[in-house]
Amino acid sequence: MAIRRILIANRGEIALRIHRAAHEMGIETVAVHSTADVDAMHVRLADHAVCIGPPPATESYLNVANIISAAEVAHCDAVHPGYGFLSENAKFAEIVEAHDIKWIGPKPEHIRTMGDKVAAKQTAGELGLPLVPGSDGAVSDYDEARKVAAGIGYPVIIKAASGGGGRGMKVCEAEDQLETLMQQAGSEAKAAFGDATVYIEKYLGDPRHIEFQVFGDGNGNAIHLGERDCSLQRRHQKVLEEAPSPVLTPDERNRMGMICADAMQKMGYRGAGTIEFLWEDGEFYFIEMNTRLQVEHPVTEAITGVDLVREQIRIADGKPLSVEQDEIAFIGHAIECRINAEDPFTFAPSPGEVTYYHAAGGMHVRVDSGLYAGYRIPPYYDSMIAKLIVYGRTREGCIMRLRRALEEMVVEGVKTSIPLHQELLRQNDVLSGDYSIKWLEEWLKEREG
Ligand code: ADP
Repeated sequence: MAIRRILIANRGEIALRIHRAAHEMGIETVAVHSTADVDAMHVRLADHAVCIGPPPATESYLNVANIISAAEVAHCDAVHPGYGFLSENAKFAEIVEAHDIKWIGPKPEHIRTMGDKVAAKQTAGELGLPLVPGSDGAVSDYDEARKVAAGIGYPVIIKAASGGGGRGMKVCEAEDQLETLMQQAGSEAKAAFGDATVYIEKYLGDPRHIEFQVFGDGNGNAIHLGERDCSLQRRHQKVLEEAPSPVLTPDERNRMGMICADAMQKMGYRGAGTIEFLWEDGEFYFIEMNTRLQVEHPVTEAITGVDLVREQIRIADGKPLSVEQDEIAFIGHAIECRINAEDPFTFAPSPGEVTYYHAAGGMHVRVDSGLYAGYRIPPYYDSMIAKLIVYGRTREGCIMRLRRALEEMVVEGVKTSIPLHQELLRQNDVLSGDYSIKWLEEWLKEREG
């Protein structure tokens, strides 16, 4: 039976994003919320709402038993997990499906494989994706590690198999540090992820982060929707994303996109996914695959005109993809600014009451946010409060419009990263698209003086 009511297992702007796609398809929504989010916009707009626990995410948005009970009590026939929280938890996906509720996401076995970085890398290699040279799987033996590192050449990076969020990584410049750094990486990984397994890769000096959006119907049909350049990062957190990447030619996009789509076809992948690469001197190197919708998905929507959440829901409902590869064209340019409630200089979080709010508007301006005047930003969750996504026919036009839109945005009562974005959009390297994943941190260091 077709999906009629979706439980949205998330909060904030992404919960709203899913609600909007569902309502446009005539599907009802059920919001879940912690006691800290009673007054949140995602709760106000949903057709029904269920409280699932106290403020800490471990007791609410990560509370599987309470979320499943909410889905049952509210008679939901599907669950959309959004991003973060339980979105890449294979066990949760299995539990949802075991309750005869549709999981709006990839097959649990694919979530599991891609969630283990060693298994993911091996699978990616088998599927024909280009890899960063490195150890063949996990390394525990120091002699073997020395051989691998000598083979690929220093510097190398030691990474935790269960790592995530940029944690559990050590750059090693020379052989005499290898053993110590492997021990450190292993014990940090054990403490953070309960798993000391590490592997070794060549450390790329100055790459860009370029990721491809893919979609599969679970039956062997798959497409790609081009790339996003997310090189502007602070502490491995993306700050501003754009599509297309300023450095790829249409030929390179098509070639790499087809490699990704073919890989997903072979895998029988279902739903939305993102294949992340580092890119240096014209070469792509797979780093990981995210088996969910990404924060930055709207830039892809802007240049392709495809509603990615609608596609996710359709696929979970057993329908085919609504577009074929040759119907997808990449037109114009889009940039997303992540707006956080934080000090634009120290990056200290700035939760509290929003006393005044005015969203930017006008042609080709999209604001995804649950903000309103009088809303209290709770201190318990991620500090991202809005995404400003701007489209233009050209990159220059997009940047001019983005500057204009940032001037219009007003958020009072809390500090935000709006001034940081305004400053970034005055930097020559950003204007010319000449930046790597190191650029932002280096610029911030200079700014500090
Ligand atoms: P996580 O899952 O923790 O986010 P990733 O493998 O995606 O880990 O890597 C996170 C970031 O670490 C990358 O975006 C990049 O900035 C850096 N990184 C990872 N692997 C390498 C590498 N081989 N060389 C240089 N930088 C790397």
